[in-house]
Amino acid sequence: MTRRSFLGGLAAFAVLPTLRECAVPDAQGISAYPFTLGVGSGDPLPDGVVLWTRLAPDPIGGGGLPNEPISVLWEVATDPDFDEVINRTGALARPDRGYAIHKDLRGLEPDRWYWYRFSVGDWVSPVGRTRTAPAVDCVPGQLRFGLATCQNYRHGYYTAHANLANEDLDLVFHVGDYIYESSGQGPVRPTPGVATTLEDYRARYALYRSDPDLQAAHAAFPWVVTWDDHEVEDNYAADLDKHGNDPATFLPRRAAAYRAWWENQATRLPPPTGPDLPIHRRLRWGRLADLWVLDTRQYRSNQPCGDGGAPLCDDNFDPELTMLGDAQEAWLTDGLLSSEARWNVLAQQVVFGDMQIGTAVNHDQWDGYPLARQRLLDLFASEDVANPVVLSGDLHAAFAADLHQQVQDPTTPVVATELLTPSISSNFNPDAAPLWENLMMQRPYVHHANGTNRGYVTCRLTPDALDARWRYVETVTEPTSAVFTGFELHRVAGPAAPAGGGAAC
Ligand code: FE
Ligand code: CA
Repeated sequence: MTRRSFLGGLAAFAVLPTLRECAVPDAQGISAYPFTLGVGSGDPLPDGVVLWTRLAPDPIGGGGLPNEPISVLWEVATDPDFDEVINRTGALARPDRGYAIHKDLRGLEPDRWYWYRFSVGDWVSPVGRTRTAPAVDCVPGQLRFGLATCQNYRHGYYTAHANLANEDLDLVFHVGDYIYESSGQGPVRPTPGVATTLEDYRARYALYRSDPDLQAAHAAFPWVVTWDDHEVEDNYAADLDKHGNDPATFLPRRAAAYRAWWENQATRLPPPTGPDLPIHRRLRWGRLADLWVLDTRQYRSNQPCGDGGAPLCDDNFDPELTMLGDAQEAWLTDGLLSSEARWNVLAQQVVFGDMQIGTAVNHDQWDGYPLARQRLLDLFASEDVANPVVLSGDLHAAFAADLHQQVQDPTTPVVATELLTPSISSNFNPDAAPLWENLMMQRPYVHHANGTNRGYVTCRLTPDALDARWRYVETVTEPTSAVFTGFELHRVAGPAAPAGGGAAC
C-alpha cells in the first residue's frame, strides 16, 4: 500500500469526530531511518496514555539530525493493521528535548488496547501496542504486570526483555538502573566512558534503547518507570554523589541525568528545568489496585555509617533519617490511608525487607533506614491500608518474602508481600550466589531466593488473590534464550479497606 492510497483509505473515517487529517511531513533532510530507538508508551489513565519516540538516524554517533525541530506524524488505531485510525496529528521533535516526542493522548476509552506509530516523510516507525486503565469507579477482574530492574548493557544481552515482550501483561514496571552511567568493556557488550554530561546521558540512553529486545518489550505494553541510582551515579543520595562531594559539583550532573531520563521515558511528567524532578506519582487500576510509584533516591538522607557493608551504628537510628523525604512520605501515608483500592502496589527501587547477613548491613537499602521502614510497616498494619505489595529491584538477585511488622520477627503479623525481581542482565557474583540463596532460605519469611539467574517477575492481581511468577532466562551471554518459571507465589487478599468496595467493571 502506498502512502497516497493509505491516506485515501483514511478518508472513509473522516466522519469520526476525533480524526483530524494531517499532512504527512516530508523527510526534512533526514537521510536515514530515524526510528532506530523504537517506540514506547506509559502511565496509562482511563482516558489516555503517553506515546513516546525519539528520532535518531545515527543513535550512537550523536543523533545525526540538523539542529532544528522535526515535524513528526503520530497515528493511533483500534487495530494492529491501522484499518481504524481514530487519531492522527503532527508533533514537533525539538533539539532541546533530544528529538523526543511525548504525546499525552487523551479522549480514549477505558480498559482498551490501542496501536500507534509515528512517521516522518516515508519513514514509518515500528507499531507499538498500548492500553488504557479501567474506569476509576469500578473493580476490574485483573491486573497483570511485569516487573524489571537493572539492565547493564555490557553485562548481558536482553534475552529477558525478548521473553517479557511475549508475556500476557497489561503493563510493565521498571524500578530503576535502566541505564548504567559507568564505563567498561564486556563481558558481553562494550559501553563508552563514564556519563557525566547531558550529551553523555543522551548517548547512553540511545545505546540502550537501540537494543531490539528492549524495544520489543516497550512496544508490547505501556510502561510505568521510576529510577534508582545508576540513572545518575552509583549510590548517590539526594544532592550528594557517592563520595559525598560538594553538591555544587554534583547537582549539574544530576540535572543532566534527570533531563536525559525525562527525554527517554514515556511519562506524563513536565520536563525538568534544573536539578529537581519530582517523579513520585499515583496511577490507578480501577478499584482493584492503586499503583504508588516511589522515588527513594532524590530525597533520601545520605547512607549512614559510611555505607558499604558496615554494621549498624547509632546513625542508622537517627529519627530524622529518611528514604522518601518528608513530602513524599506524607503524600504516601495520606494516600494509602485514603485508598479505596483492593491492593496497594508500591513500585520502588531497593530491597525493603530484612537483608542483613550477620552484622553486615547494606546501608543503601531500607535496612540502612530502619526507623523510616518501621513507619511504613506500621502503616501497612493499619486496617485502613488494604493489601500492600512492595516491588523492589537493585540487588541483581531475587526473592519472594512476607514482610512482618518487625521484619526480623516472624511472630509479628505479616503486613505486606515483597516481590524482589532479578536483574534483566546486571551480574551478581556467581560464587556468592549459592551462599546468599542458602542464607535467605533459612529465614521463615523468605520463600524463594535466586542470585544465579537473570530475568523478571510477572504478577496477576485479582480482587481475591495475588499470583506472581519469577521468570528466569537460561543465559544472557547469548543473544537468545529460553525462559522458565523458577517460583510461583500465591497470596490470598486480606480484607478490603473500610472505604474499599465497588461494583465490577
Ligand atoms: Fe543495578
Ligand atoms: Ca541500584
